[in-house]
Amino acid sequence: MAGLLFGTGGTPHSAKAPSTISGIERIAELGLGCMEIEFVQGVKMGEGGARLVADTATREGVKLSAHAPYFINFNAHEPEKIRASQDRLLQTARIALICGAGSVVFHAAFYLGDPPEKAYNTVRKYLGETVNQLKKENNQVWIRPEIMGKLSGFGTLQEILDLSIELDRVAPCIDFAHWHARTGRFNSYHEFTSILEQVKERLGKAALDNMHIHVSGIAYGKKGEIKHLNLEESDFQYAELLKALKDYEVEGMLICESPNLETDALLLQATYNTLLKAG
Ligand SMILES: [Zn+2]
Repeated sequence: MAGLLFGTGGTPHSAKAPSTISGIERIAELGLGCMEIEFVQGVKMGEGGARLVADTATREGVKLSAHAPYFINFNAHEPEKIRASQDRLLQTARIALICGAGSVVFHAAFYLGDPPEKAYNTVRKYLGETVNQLKKENNQVWIRPEIMGKLSGFGTLQEILDLSIELDRVAPCIDFAHWHARTGRFNSYHEFTSILEQVKERLGKAALDNMHIHVSGIAYGKKGEIKHLNLEESDFQYAELLKALKDYEVEGMLICESPNLETDALLLQATYNTLLKAG
């Protein structure tokens, strides 16, 4: 992967149709580099459809990732809910592979009142089983638990990096907006570089060459994230983040999840390119 690619979480609003294929074509027309396919309400794409998606992405030169369904909780207290969570992640990874997507992003769990260490051990166990199954299938897609914005959601920076260290083929999805909303901090150049330093120290320099990032404006309160906002309506210091990403030569995909999708993705990309030119 060359450099840092910018794209949208889901099909851009200005696509001809609300389909994945139209989305990929629109990403290319806009001059963006990547798109995350949103399977958040379930994986409804079949194998044939996924092959068409892969062909389109190759032809248009657009890199893909996939977001697994929201209905996943690797810390569920009922065994059948754990199994359903594993199945949903497996199903997403299998279809993502056919789409030619490099990564699957997912929301790993909720604490449900459990102490964080207990939740962590449960998530590690059941996610470990899932990645072992993918290994058996020779599915090489990166499995990326996301940093979550609400305090009730499993997924601190620490937890996501720990899972990435302990489990094969697991890597972080660093959602900078979520981390800012969750902590009320991490909104300045030095705080952003401190995150990148941690990634580098704990996962190695190679992790910075293969990053998966979510960015949006965000509203937050005492319990963390309230909702996503467009960047200009929020306090998120995206230019400082982009400078940090540039200075650390971060490569991979940056997915914009602002409500206006491609408008902010283009703003982020243009700001980043200006920084690159300034040297
Ligand atoms: Zn997400």
